[in-house]
Amino acid sequence: MNAIAEDVIVEPAVPDRAVASPVAAVRDGRDRPLRDLRLSVIDQCNFRCTYCMPREVFDEHYRFLRASERISFDEMMKIAHAFVALGVEKIRITGGEPLLRRGLETLIERLARMTTLKGKPLDIALTTNGSLLGARARGLRDAGLSRVTVSLDALDDAVFRRMSDVDLPVARILDGIEQAQAVGLAPVKVNTVIERGVNDHQILPLVRHFKGSEIALRFIEFMDVGGAAGWSNSTVLKARDIRAIVEKEFPLIAADHADSGATSVNYRHADGKGTVGFIASVSEPFCGECSRARVSADGQLYTCLFATQGADLKPWLGEAVPGEQLMDAIHARWNARDDRYSELNADRRRAGTGKTWPTVRMSLVGG
Ligand code: SAM
Ligand code: SF4
Ligand code: SF4
Repeated sequence: MNAIAEDVIVEPAVPDRAVASPVAAVRDGRDRPLRDLRLSVIDQCNFRCTYCMPREVFDEHYRFLRASERISFDEMMKIAHAFVALGVEKIRITGGEPLLRRGLETLIERLARMTTLKGKPLDIALTTNGSLLGARARGLRDAGLSRVTVSLDALDDAVFRRMSDVDLPVARILDGIEQAQAVGLAPVKVNTVIERGVNDHQILPLVRHFKGSEIALRFIEFMDVGGAAGWSNSTVLKARDIRAIVEKEFPLIAADHADSGATSVNYRHADGKGTVGFIASVSEPFCGECSRARVSADGQLYTCLFATQGADLKPWLGEAVPGEQLMDAIHARWNARDDRYSELNADRRRAGTGKTWPTVRMSLVGG
């Protein structure tokens, strides 16, 4: 397992104040609102998933962000206030592995005190590989975390170890999931990336395992994101094919599409015992409804998962800079946003001119 930097810092909790006055919700160049923020708190991870941080690249020589290059919790709070004043209602904490950022509960406590423009509590979610969740679930819940998504690609230990390239049993992740449920983090979701020929035989075991448990299992198509070294068209099992595999054993009924910005198309088991979701990021892109901004652990704003470059927010993060200036910078960047990488790429593939290029790495900007 990769050694985790000991330089992660415990940060002082200072009182938060709203840094800016609210404005009407902003829209981008394609009339998409800004609703969700994915905040990456660290670029390191204790896993080496082959589709995200292959060990050949992310080895002992890999230069991760130093603690001094990562933005502090105070700076993250300033960013959070600015995004919420611009209309964001949900913040998802991600990474790398977010539970490796020491003192994360302190950040969550501070975020949990915020309210949205509509006066509702901010929805705070966390995406984690689950390896450290068992011991932390209660503290995260007490800090104000609303819900958690755990990534788990297999029930079989050998397949899990091969994909995550980590020496841990699946039981450790399942324990994290159970603890999260037990302390009342709800809903608990499980995300499974399917790579054709690698873990497609795990689809049915996973459905069998989580059926009837109130855990929302979602299958994700393997994406050509930065870091996914082995990606090619032939490694993608389309969401509709994944669903066909599930339906061989479990009849499904389409569920209502509650959230317009949602990435997952959800189905209910015909016997009422739970749901299964499918995220067709590659075969049926949902750029038209993409309302997500991402801020990396070094304070860069990305308006698409496949962006090649971020906008540096650090010049606006100093205490002396009024929050309104940070808001203006984010607002201007969102107004100029025209991203729809997955749609364009699907068009290119259909036209036979498919070509991918290096994008920001997933472990820096979060999923
Ligand atoms: N370490 C945490 C985890 O694994 O949940 C949070 C960060 S991880 C980058 C966020 C999500 O991105 C995970 O659910 C992971 O499965 C997904 N992901 C990473 N690389 C991917 C790829 N190439 N295709 C599809 N999903 C990917
Ligand atoms: Fe780590 Fe998550 Fe990437 Fe896997 S997907 S290597 S757990 S950041
Ligand atoms: Fe959003 Fe970019 Fe993904 Fe399209 S490709 S859904 S714009 S992140």
